[in-house]
Amino acid sequence: MSRMTPKTYRGRFAPSPTGPLHLGSLACALSSWLDARAHDGEWLIRIEDIDPPRDVPGADEDILQTLKAFHLESDLPIVWQSDRHALYENAFQKLQQAGTLYGCSCSRSSIAIASAAAGLPPGVYPGTCRNGTNGAAIRSYRFRVDAQSPTCFADRICGEYAQDVLREVGDFVLKRADGLWAYQLAVVVDDAEQGITHIVRGRDLLDNTPRQILLQRALGFAQPVYMHIGLITDASGNKLSKQNKAPRVPADNPLKTLESLWPLMGFPRIGAQSLDAFLRQASELWAERYCSRAC
Ligand code: GLU
Repeated sequence: MSRMTPKTYRGRFAPSPTGPLHLGSLACALSSWLDARAHDGEWLIRIEDIDPPRDVPGADEDILQTLKAFHLESDLPIVWQSDRHALYENAFQKLQQAGTLYGCSCSRSSIAIASAAAGLPPGVYPGTCRNGTNGAAIRSYRFRVDAQSPTCFADRICGEYAQDVLREVGDFVLKRADGLWAYQLAVVVDDAEQGITHIVRGRDLLDNTPRQILLQRALGFAQPVYMHIGLITDASGNKLSKQNKAPRVPADNPLKTLESLWPLMGFPRIGAQSLDAFLRQASELWAERYCSRAC
């Protein structure tokens, strides 16, 4: 697989087009953009549209227009995951040849029954098909997690994070029963193929990172530096997400929106005269807070 040669820093924002940009996703976009600027690096946008049942037609262009209104624009041409199936297929074949994948015939309900019977927390795959499906038809493909590889990494905000993936998640799906690629595979392949060195994203993805690190190791990819930022919540403390029907970010007055978002991200008010002045000052504050040590 060919990989681009990155500058010393290349970051990205990778929205799934499942709805318009809300304040929580704007905070992720802004954080990753500021971190790239603070490192004099590059910032890329990648549209993660590999889940047609969840994707909303037109949401990609809507998100891009909103980002543009905030002067958050990709330094390189934007890529769409739906154009990149060959890359995921290639990585899938590589893992299959290395024996790190297996076919699984389990359904959601059979997993729930088997994991409860094994006394595992809900959602943990009990390894039913590890040694074959007993002739039952294969529905999905899972990554075989090596019991010897508990995974830990140093997050720039959260610090040391450890997860025993086999016990806490189990062998995880890379190709779904509906034939679609799983997020874990696509994100790891794209981050490597695009030469991403630093990932700044929401804390809701922190516990996905060990799975992604296992895939990076299995595919021989470098491990990016991770930073998981706190989630923006509404007045009642609920996470802003598309699932919670978080409202579209107001883009008619981007400066006003950013000025009100900034304190929710834990920074003092800026009070800038223009959008570009806000972004400049925010990059300096960001650099002071997060980039004074080697990061
Ligand atoms: N596409 C994911 C989302 O919109 C983010 C993926 C990532 O940053 O790794 O939640």
